[in-house]
Amino acid sequence: MGRIFLSAAHGGFENGILDPGSIAGNTTEAQEMIVLRDLMVAELRSRNFEVLAVPDDLSQEQTINWINARSRQSDVALEIHTGSSTDPATRGSTVYYIANNDQRKAHGELLLLALLRRVPELPSRGAKPDTQTGLGSLIFVGNC
Ligand SMILES: [Zn+2]
Repeated sequence: MGRIFLSAAHGGFENGILDPGSIAGNTTEAQEMIVLRDLMVAELRSRNFEVLAVPDDLSQEQTINWINARSRQSDVALEIHTGSSTDPATRGSTVYYIANNDQRKAHGELLLLALLRRVPELPSRGAKPDTQTGLGSLIFVGNC
């Protein structure tokens, strides 16, 4: 496997406005994903994976451009998010992959299984094509 690009979602400016992602309590999705990403980078590097952390102040488009300017064929790119909802039934983990790509689907299923093995308390919401999101596609998934 090649290198791993890890993006902590949100935190950049979108149309001139700072994007915090979801907000809960006194923290934001952007802040929490930076903390999680830093833990993931340290863990992956301790296992001898080459990891590139995407700068935290980039917009979505800048993030994609930053990765694509540096990536090679064997690399993988992941962006981590956390959602928020007042409905506890929506709790759980989902991995989204680019639609109509069996290899990415298999990778998404493997990634979700690995996560759920380590954190069995998390309900699985499945590995899903990005066409099943509320937006109908995910910019990151379709362009990295
Ligand atoms: Zn998000």
